[in-house]
Amino acid sequence: MRFTRLRLNGFKSFVDPTDLVIAEGLTGVVGPNGCGKSNLLEALRWVMGENRPTAMRGGGMEDVIFAGAATRPARNHAEVSLVIDNQDRLAPAGFNDSDLLEITRRITRDVGSAYKVGPKDVRARDVQMLFADAATGSTSPALVRQGQISELINAKPKNRRRILEDAAGIAGLYQRRHEAELKLNNAEQNLARVDDVIEQLA
Ligand code: ATP
Repeated sequence: MRFTRLRLNGFKSFVDPTDLVIAEGLTGVVGPNGCGKSNLLEALRWVMGENRPTAMRGGGMEDVIFAGAATRPARNHAEVSLVIDNQDRLAPAGFNDSDLLEITRRITRDVGSAYKVGPKDVRARDVQMLFADAATGSTSPALVRQGQISELINAKPKNRRRILEDAAGIAGLYQRRHEAELKLNNAEQNLARVDDVIEQLA
């Protein structure tokens, strides 16, 4: 699984459709201050399902939509697509039937986000799980924010362990365990209610 393209349209400063080809090997993004280098990294996190506006340096998620400039009006929506080469068939089960995977997230003002894998509508959770199972994702230690190295050095052991777990691809298992625990709690509450009803009838 290798990222090969990042397409942006109306995302932050990338108001015009932009197609970034990610070649094999090391990719460096250089440019003057404020030209949008961090916005590119944020687009990558966002399309992988990042849901915290603060991780996008915004107050609300709609802040990722192009907000307008002196000569251009604001946009009503933003879209980012990530194209993944899956010839090695290492994508998690359920997404593993084609050579190319294209994941798209679109946000529309007052509507919110919608996700697609190829032409198919999927849930945010499906996209987050796809990347968590592939040992990457919006919180992946492979995406290094400014200031993150010093945070890591000063982090508590428990937080450092989370980084290792993300890298090992088991973050998705924790999420699934949490969801299973919620279901179990619900089932136990339903059983308790059934017991009450039986007692009243007896
Ligand atoms: P530095 O080298 O200083 O870290 P950078 O190249 O990483 O800068 P970014 O922080 O990615 O630059 O981009 C900042 C630019 O993006 C600013 O000019 C800001 O006005 C613009 N920007 C951020 N959000 C939006 C938005 N919603 N609409 C339009 N422009 C935006």
